[in-house]
Amino acid sequence: MNIDWSNLTFAYTKTNTIVCASYKNGEWSSVESRKSDEISMNSYSASLHYGVECFEGLKAFNGKDGKIRIFRPDENFKRMKSSADYLGIECPSEEMFLDMVIRAVKENREFIPPYESRASLYIRPLLISLAPQLGVNSPSDSFFSIMVSPVGAYAGGLDNAAKGVIARQFDRAAPNGSGRFKVGGNYACSLYAGRQAAKEGYNAVLYLDPASHKFIDEFSSSNFFGIKGNTYVTPKSESVLPSITNKSLEQVAKDNGMTVERRQIPIEELASFEEVGECGTAVVITPVGQIDDKPSIEGKITKSYFYGDKNHCGPKSRKLYETITGIQYGEIEDKHGWCTIL
Ligand SMILES: *Cc1c(COP(=O)(O)O)cnc(C)c1O
Repeated sequence: MNIDWSNLTFAYTKTNTIVCASYKNGEWSSVESRKSDEISMNSYSASLHYGVECFEGLKAFNGKDGKIRIFRPDENFKRMKSSADYLGIECPSEEMFLDMVIRAVKENREFIPPYESRASLYIRPLLISLAPQLGVNSPSDSFFSIMVSPVGAYAGGLDNAAKGVIARQFDRAAPNGSGRFKVGGNYACSLYAGRQAAKEGYNAVLYLDPASHKFIDEFSSSNFFGIKGNTYVTPKSESVLPSITNKSLEQVAKDNGMTVERRQIPIEELASFEEVGECGTAVVITPVGQIDDKPSIEGKITKSYFYGDKNHCGPKSRKLYETITGIQYGEIEDKHGWCTIL
């Protein structure tokens, strides 16, 4: 093993083990650790044909005190359970989920980047079906697996603000669809808009609420927040994925004496924010320096919104970022008991 901790990105690294269990004939198998990342599945699996799949994303950190912290795994369990119930597939119990997360982290301990690197171990729980099936219905088997991979700190991420575009001609999810569940299909559906946006020089796509296209929903894989004065504002919408990072930021904002508003955000309100950010487990906060509004991604700009100096994270977002990461690395008191300490 020879990893350059300071140059990690969000890419696959082979680690020691993946931790797996299968649900068949009404019961879970015992949990096993496998050295190979390859899994064997039937080519008729409903996960391959019909997208019956959900996943999670969370992280483990090497703390300042030498202890390993996993951030809010109980929240990831709850969300995976809601995704599995939506798909109609069997989800492991909370105890089994948490045990397997801890086991995967422990078995891959040497892949948790050192504290000084500000990098972390990304944990990816995956729930699929391996069994053959042709009909479109919820499979009766499931396969649950936890994979881990060291990922970068995105050094300088706060000083490298995203340039976003409003997706006027695309939706990420349907009005009463699957947007609030962490299912793979939502990501497949955002790739086309993402490619179009990249061609036009954008690295963030901002989706509107699919019912009226009047309100902000979220980015393709991260939630939206805006800050004005002492207020943190984030969309209330049935089609937004409930981000655990966003939920944590809301709490930290309140703890810091800010007002938190979770409500519909009309597009025009973009003009009144002093700071805007994307938030999610991968980077906690990516500041957004510019958002362009256009009739279509390749069309002419009708209006541009600018935040800060276009490149750097604003002071209020930075404070929130530092608080969350401080809790994750054991530098700031974890007063809400968010971290599972190994
Ligand atoms: C996973 C995800 C997020 C971020 O959620 P976190 O729990 O903060 O990682 C935001 N939006 C979408 C669409 C997601 O899939």
